[in-house]
Amino acid sequence: MTAAASARQILTRLHEIMAGRTHAQHKLDRVVETIAESLDSEVCSIYLLREGALELYATQGLNPEAVHVTRMAVGEGLTGTIAKNIETLNLAEAKAHPDFLYRPETGEEKFHSFAGVPIVYRERAVGVLCVQHVEPRRYEEVEVEALQTTAMILSELIAHKELVDDVEAIDFGGAHTETEVIDGLALVKGLASGRAVFHQPRVEIDQVVAEDTEAERQRVYRAFDKMREQIDAMAREPEFGKGGEHVEVLETYKMFAYDEGWSRRINEAIDSGLTAEAAIERVQQRTRMRMREIDDPLLADRMHDLEDLSNRLLRIVSGQLGTAASQGLRRDSILVARNLGPAELLEYDRRRLKGVVLEEGSLTAHVVIVARAMGIPVLGRAMGILSRVSEGDEILIDADKSRVTLRPSPALMDAFEYRFAKNRERQATYAELRDVEPFTRDGTRIAVMMNAGLRDDMSMLQLTGADGVGLFRTEFQFLVSSTLPQRDRQTRLYRDVLEAAGDKPVVFRTVDIGGDKAVPYLNSQVAERDENPAMGWRALRLSLEREGLLKVQARALLEAAAGRTLSVMFPMVSEPWEFDAAKAMFEGQLEFLRDRRKLVPETVEYGCMLEVPALAEVLEQLLPRLSFISVGTNDLTQFLFAADRANPKLAERYDWLSLAILRFLHRVSQACVGYPVRLNVCGEMGGRRLEALALLGIGYRRLSITPAAVGPIKELVRKVDLGEITRQMSQWLVTPPPDMRAALKAWADERDIETD
Ligand code: PEP
Ligand code: MG
Repeated sequence: MTAAASARQILTRLHEIMAGRTHAQHKLDRVVETIAESLDSEVCSIYLLREGALELYATQGLNPEAVHVTRMAVGEGLTGTIAKNIETLNLAEAKAHPDFLYRPETGEEKFHSFAGVPIVYRERAVGVLCVQHVEPRRYEEVEVEALQTTAMILSELIAHKELVDDVEAIDFGGAHTETEVIDGLALVKGLASGRAVFHQPRVEIDQVVAEDTEAERQRVYRAFDKMREQIDAMAREPEFGKGGEHVEVLETYKMFAYDEGWSRRINEAIDSGLTAEAAIERVQQRTRMRMREIDDPLLADRMHDLEDLSNRLLRIVSGQLGTAASQGLRRDSILVARNLGPAELLEYDRRRLKGVVLEEGSLTAHVVIVARAMGIPVLGRAMGILSRVSEGDEILIDADKSRVTLRPSPALMDAFEYRFAKNRERQATYAELRDVEPFTRDGTRIAVMMNAGLRDDMSMLQLTGADGVGLFRTEFQFLVSSTLPQRDRQTRLYRDVLEAAGDKPVVFRTVDIGGDKAVPYLNSQVAERDENPAMGWRALRLSLEREGLLKVQARALLEAAAGRTLSVMFPMVSEPWEFDAAKAMFEGQLEFLRDRRKLVPETVEYGCMLEVPALAEVLEQLLPRLSFISVGTNDLTQFLFAADRANPKLAERYDWLSLAILRFLHRVSQACVGYPVRLNVCGEMGGRRLEALALLGIGYRRLSITPAAVGPIKELVRKVDLGEITRQMSQWLVTPPPDMRAALKAWADERDIETD
């Protein structure tokens, strides 16, 4: 008999048992009887995890008196070993196994052969199903397979209260009980605590036993087709780089999606009587078990991908497609994901979302910039987080120490609370600086502005005491919207922003979409063109060609700033003519409004971002035409180093304090001397204290940074002697120290300037 036929036979019998109108224990007794009979075994037993131990819940063949008496710790005896390692044991001679433990009350001494499988619920062992036989023989592969399928059905039946009366007593919380610490990469510093919420929620499987096998097969076929379509579409879309997913992952996805073996195994599981959902889960469970036996990190990575894909298939087949955002957060939550796009993050309720833990992630990925703007700590590169945490587990993120603690003990919680309090004290110190102007010790006023992108961000202007908004990323509105934002919606936002800013200046950057900021409604055009989206048809390049887009934005900005100053900045300018063309577009709209006697801004000033290295070579041509220029170090560094800013593998590879960057930035600041142009830095670099110190030393006097950094940077500025750091940096640029970061740190430490 095949494994499928054998499992099918058991399933049919289970079906009949479940339909009976007897109480749960009686059903469970019949279940073990049936399995024993089908697998031609003298014994079949079910152990379930209750109050931390595996308790014998039903048996055919062992001493009935042992039921609810025999209890084994997880890890103890063969049963405990199976549960602990979530593995299958198939032994011709049970006594010969080093973990064998004899329990006299069971009367099992006469049985030699033993096969046991874990009963797994949501990746945790909640029990063990085993068979025993007098004759010393190894069970056949098909028998073990049938046992595994049966165990899976049992787990669902038990969870749905159909086989045990006291299901509340069963420990479905299972294996993940101990405290664990995972180290990662701090992407947004800070502390946070809350309950784990999976961005992609696990699919709840309601029905495991199929009513119509053919129908289930069709459902799986259709789901496979849809999934393959999705993967192929992803391959065509350049924003597959979004959030750090990469070509490699895509290749693996494709390999699995078209893998005959995988779909065949799912079909076999359906043949054994499972629903499509249960079959996918069953195959995944088996893969997980196999993986536990193989210790190969490369393979483990691939298995992550298969796990992702398997979840995707499950979501398609079950129609449970939404992310956790669509279900809403009910309490303080820590979002757990492999990776996220910026728009996905923005869908969450900001009041309840306390932190984010990612398996991937890099410092300048847009999702991280958004999280930083939202003041949400993010720990990236937390390897294994998805399998080591369960929905609802307590999590502490300590991004200051680059680690996350899962299921902390009360003592750890207390210690964390203490650090929280210390942090609050520190924040209070920054708050005191709110109305203090940031002069250096030798009397130079440094402009400390903030970056923003959403209406809500504007409250931070008052709270931090920033000098204004040096970069308003208008594309955030485009990212959170499912359709292209119409002009009146844009005007409303810009007007609200200006009103909230009061007398303080706001620099609006025209849309920078494309790259890792993909918007679905513009994708088709982007998809056809870009192999390499960060260097592709994005930002101003896209806006200049999609004239309508820029014109609408120009009108919205001009109308919103009627009667006051409008500062507009263009992103990704690579050659001066692009700036001219964009400015001409705005001037055209201004004319249009004037002709119609509409109220227009008192002044319009134009500036541009310096993100493309080529522009630095022609500054003398461009500067006379500008009111201000702002260095976008996020993109600039990715282009200088040819290192994708969203690629987690490169996240720590290049340092903002490297000689190449500092020399480059120094040349830019030198080139601006003598022009009446305001020079800013608005990349993430300026919000880090050591980096800001270096920037001050190479001629930068205006920083636009994430709101949370305004206090710390003001504090730094007030402790620095600008003359001294300028002399020091000039010397280091000529004669570099072996490690610029270490040298700067030592310099700051000697002067009691905090830079962490
Ligand atoms: C930059 O590139 O440094 C920048 C500020 O723009 P963004 O991060 O939005 O690309
Ligand atoms: Mg940029």
